Amino acid sequence: MEPRIKLYDRAAWKRLRLEQLRREPFCVFCARSGRQVPATVCDHIQPHRGDESLFFDPENLQSVCKTCHDAIKQRFEKSGYEAGGDIHGIPFDPSHHWNARA
Ligand SMILES: [Zn+2]
Repeated sequence: MEPRIKLYDRAAWKRLRLEQLRREPFCVFCARSGRQVPATVCDHIQPHRGDESLFFDPENLQSVCKTCHDAIKQRFEKSGYEAGGDIHGIPFDPSHHWNARA
């Protein structure tokens, strides 16, 4: 857990995250269902599990909204994958949600 927190605290990550969200400003999962939802979370496609080469690989990043991010995490936790993972120092906007679906 400890090294992971440090990874998210690094300036390189903060820069990478901003660049990713600038390059891909909308949630990739919402986009697949035809929705344009501003992404607030920079997510790792392949769980890095503390692996710095995966963590800092720009090709391993995707922009997602908070709701999709939580859904991904839940799926991982159910499968016993990446359990207890958390994102540190990443602000998100709680006001936008997926609820207005219908
Ligand atoms: Zn989304």
